[in-house]
Amino acid sequence: MNWKLAARAEKMNPSVLREILKVTERPGIISLAGGLPSPQTFPISAFAAACAEILETDGQAALQYAASEGYGPLRQAVADMLPWNVDPAQVLITTGSQQGLDLVAKVLLDPGSRVLVETPTYLGALQAFGPMEPTPVAVASDDEGVIVDDLVAQARGKSPADAARFVYLLPNFQNPTGRTMTEARRAAVSAAAAAAGLPIVEDNPYGELWFDEAPPLPLTARNPEGCIYLGSFSKVLAPGLRLGFLVAPKAVYPKLLQAKQAVDLHTPIFTQRMVSTVMKDGFLERHVPTIRALYKRQRDAMVAALQREMKGLDVKFNVPVGGMFLWLRMPEGIDTVALLPKAVERNVAFVPGAPFYAGEGDPRTMRLSFVTASVEQIDIGIAALAATVREQLAH
Ligand code: PMP
Repeated sequence: MNWKLAARAEKMNPSVLREILKVTERPGIISLAGGLPSPQTFPISAFAAACAEILETDGQAALQYAASEGYGPLRQAVADMLPWNVDPAQVLITTGSQQGLDLVAKVLLDPGSRVLVETPTYLGALQAFGPMEPTPVAVASDDEGVIVDDLVAQARGKSPADAARFVYLLPNFQNPTGRTMTEARRAAVSAAAAAAGLPIVEDNPYGELWFDEAPPLPLTARNPEGCIYLGSFSKVLAPGLRLGFLVAPKAVYPKLLQAKQAVDLHTPIFTQRMVSTVMKDGFLERHVPTIRALYKRQRDAMVAALQREMKGLDVKFNVPVGGMFLWLRMPEGIDTVALLPKAVERNVAFVPGAPFYAGEGDPRTMRLSFVTASVEQIDIGIAALAATVREQLAH
């Protein structure tokens, strides 16, 4: 058979990361690599009770086709949960927030459209945008996120037709860096984007996972007409649910809904009803603090281990105030892609940072997750990582 692939399929590549991480799946490896929430936090008994209740009381509707917009009570619960005035009619339930990224790309990007991203940014977003064949443009960023002057300069492009379609931003505990945008930066980014007519796509899967204080208000809360907001139940309940949502202004909501219909008709209604039932009576208000407390202990363990083990090495890392990830920059002469197999020989794995850049990547960077491994494993893993770095530097 003569299978002629579409030009876009020709350009698809297996995730660089997945290829790299295959080596890390060997038994006995302490993985600080994957972005997996701690399975200890999954509320299994609450789901078992909700499942039984739904099948008993409303089994037929729960197993039938349903509306593409999502389950009404869940849309209402999402609107109630968000810290600005959200009309449930603007909420679209998605099959994970990853699907939100796909829908946004389909509706807003043409081949060659410029889309602005942070330096570095979430690799999964670059992958979701990829099939629409846009041109991702890295906006210069510091510890607080994108730098406003560069954002404004990049938004314009060379001509009005070349103006960026949107900027994709992760203000809270970013993947991969763990950094958070300050209140001042949010205010400045929001005002600058509004003045430039630049739409914002705000991705916030980690916002609830703060350790000591809640982060400042989302960008969308400041200008809902200029933003699409993406949220997820993956990090506060369980990622296997594949349940997320987006909030979009009237100007784009109908198109996002049509794109969603074409992709999967609707997100599994059984799952939506389960989550809606589990969330009743303030469940998340009791459950999420237990995740925060666990992840904070794990962050503290990783920071302490890094301070202890990397002493004397020119290793820089941040202390994230929430989320799952920490970002490191290794000493001069270390390339983290080359370092990974050496670390795996010592039974520890991490994610090299370079694939997270839209432009040229910094080969000295890496992402570490502090939530999947136990405190004991973190201690052993960081010691092994430090030994690997010392050995490489000695060569
Ligand atoms: N956005 C970001 C920044 C993420 O880190 C992830 C998960 N790795 C997603 C979106 C997708 O999350 P989900 O589809 O599970 O909601």
